[in-house]
Amino acid sequence: MDDKDDVQDVEIMPTDIVFDCPNCNHNLVVDYRAAGLQVPCSQCGTIIQVPIPDGMLLEDLDCDPGELLQQLLQTRRMLVKAENAAQQLGEKIAEMTQQVAEYRKALQSVKARMETLQEAADLANATRQDITTLIEAAITVK
Ligand SMILES: [Zn+2]
Repeated sequence: MDDKDDVQDVEIMPTDIVFDCPNCNHNLVVDYRAAGLQVPCSQCGTIIQVPIPDGMLLEDLDCDPGELLQQLLQTRRMLVKAENAAQQLGEKIAEMTQQVAEYRKALQSVKARMETLQEAADLANATRQDITTLIEAAITVK
């Protein structure tokens, strides 16, 4: 038989190109218009070139140059958007890291104050104990 058995849940059209990822061997199905293009493998993400089927001419692609240019421009716009988003994310992460450092500092300050409060409470308890002892002594003397 053939080795295309692992393509499941995908309806293969006569115009599809079926091939294996050279990196992870995952069976891939792409539209014939992707012939010769570089695409990321849906399984491992490696950028791979879609094979051009035997006998297929690139002129067979039903994209006119204008349409291709349009797609190229759109891809480039998406790339710019993605780069902007990535930069914004990077800034956000730096901002959050800064905030975490500030929270950590504030927490340490709170912890130090809690320790001071605990010491004051211990001192108050000890003093109350002393006073109670004194009062009991006074009562006993009487
Ligand atoms: Zn792969």
